[in-house]
Amino acid sequence: MLGPPGAGKGTQANLLSKKAGVPHISTGDIFRDAMKNGTPMGRRAAEFIQRGELVPDEVVIGIVEERLKEEDCRGGFILDGFPRTVAQAESLDKFLESKGISLDAVVEVVVSRDEVVRRLSNRRTCEHCQAVYHLIHNPPKEDGICDRCKGKLMQRQDDTIEVILNRLKVYERQTAPLAGYYEKKGRLLKIGGEKKIEEVVAEIAGKLGIHSPSPLPTGERDG
Ligand code: ADP
Ligand code: AMP
Repeated sequence: MLGPPGAGKGTQANLLSKKAGVPHISTGDIFRDAMKNGTPMGRRAAEFIQRGELVPDEVVIGIVEERLKEEDCRGGFILDGFPRTVAQAESLDKFLESKGISLDAVVEVVVSRDEVVRRLSNRRTCEHCQAVYHLIHNPPKEDGICDRCKGKLMQRQDDTIEVILNRLKVYERQTAPLAGYYEKKGRLLKIGGEKKIEEVVAEIAGKLGIHSPSPLPTGERDG
């Protein structure tokens, strides 16, 4: 999933992962977990994340490769927030090639700058399970409480206006060129991300041929 911060990559990746039955791998979530647990990697990543800068390539690439080697990725996976630089994309290509696989598609979620600023200011995240809400468009059932795990909803430290503006600059400079990189490879699928969440997911799933497995009625299973 490619697109500026706040485009809805995580929201879409989470829904598509359930539909397709493959893991959703978010490098941002991996870093936030590590920060919460106070690991050395989390402390290193925090220095960059708090300023809205990218975590150095060598740190991110190693983490993603280790994650992709896990058993649950054998049937496919959805990457959210990775790659974010051309160097990361090139390393990913090499890694996938060594495993004899390739990306089916790179979905670019296209949303205007004004809308991403509005979305990020209204985003709330569960401090326990990292589920994502929007105060207006995707609110929790109970104020401040996660529907999924009853954890407390927080505003991310990097969702302040100054850090948001820096993340957008960093996106334009370092990540936006990836659209051209994947377009040349014939892998880019551009999706308008300003429609309702369910409409966006239906469009991506339709274009990628992802259909929720629907259980067969009794009696039809053996035939
Ligand atoms: P990203 O992973 O690209 O940073 P998120 O998935 O966290 O973006 O979404 C950013 C914010 O926008 C969240 O508050 C989310 O609930 C909200 N959001 C996501 N998709 C939509 C949409 N199609 N319409 C309105 N709000 C959305
Ligand atoms: P996200 O949750 O995708 O918005 O990511 C939050 C922050 O984590 C980013 O602003 C970066 O500082 C860092 N991060 C996440 N993924 C990457 C990546 N692929 N490369 C570098 N930094 C990353």
